[in-house]
Amino acid sequence: MSGGKAPGGDRPRFPARLPTVGTPPTAPARAGASPARKAPAVVPASLPAARSLPAGRPLPSPAAPGMARRPVAGTAPQPASWDSAAVRARMVQKLEAQGIDHPTVLQAMNTVERHRFVDSGLVNQAYEDTSLPIGLGQTISKPSVVARMAALLLGAEAARSGPPARLLEIGTGCGYQAAVLGLLAREVYSIERLRGLHDKARANLRPFRIANVHLLFGDGMEGYAKGAPYAGIIAAAGGEALPDAWCEQLAVGGRLVAPMVTRGGQQALVVVDRTPHGLKQTVLEDVHFVPLKSGIA
Ligand code: SAH
Repeated sequence: MSGGKAPGGDRPRFPARLPTVGTPPTAPARAGASPARKAPAVVPASLPAARSLPAGRPLPSPAAPGMARRPVAGTAPQPASWDSAAVRARMVQKLEAQGIDHPTVLQAMNTVERHRFVDSGLVNQAYEDTSLPIGLGQTISKPSVVARMAALLLGAEAARSGPPARLLEIGTGCGYQAAVLGLLAREVYSIERLRGLHDKARANLRPFRIANVHLLFGDGMEGYAKGAPYAGIIAAAGGEALPDAWCEQLAVGGRLVAPMVTRGGQQALVVVDRTPHGLKQTVLEDVHFVPLKSGIA
């Protein structure tokens, strides 16, 4: 899955050399990736010139330029005595105690400063294992859920031999999970249907200068065919069923991780693996995600 040119396709090489950083490289949709479907009205955001964070290699420590100790305009001033690295390290220890044992995921959770993605009044709760409001009735997922879903994604066949080439996230929200995913994969496409949150995520991510996370404004129920096929698709909002486009845009060996309403109206985490023989669905633990909605607003 990593790099190189796919047979018969004009796939970008990874790490991709992007003409304009933050703009998705144009990858033609593959035959079978819903050719009859109307292309989603997805508008790529442009981020400033940035460096790539190398996926799957030793990650920059929180002190590395661009990822920490960097004043971020628009976020809460922190008390001089507050050591976010220590609080974050404790959060990671708790994740380990809860059974998250994927080293790359733990490293990413230790690197991304969650407190920079929440409103100033919530900064002191940023490293608790709780979801928090991010505006427009939406929430940033609990750290344990972000870590669990990321670890499931990295368990896909397509991620066994190295960092997944391309991931798609449905529901950018404040951009926190997109930043975590950016440390795990070569390229990440993240779609948000609410303009206000899309703009917020862009502002939140800008100071980190992450070149491999591409923010898109549009209805994620259509997926994003231009970046397909994906080694992994992750949804941060749950509906009654999994949209066809998501399964169609999964690479063989790829994995979809999403909340979905299953038994008796209860949401559960669902994993769909695309094998050479078809789709295999597994229903895991109950979860509570905001609803997946169609259209943009
Ligand atoms: N991963 C996010 C979680 C955001 S909550 C974070 O780290 O903050 C889930 C998000 O999914 C919400 O922002 C909601 O607006 C969005 N969403 C719901 N349905 C959607 C759809 N069809 N397409 C894109 N985003 C959607």
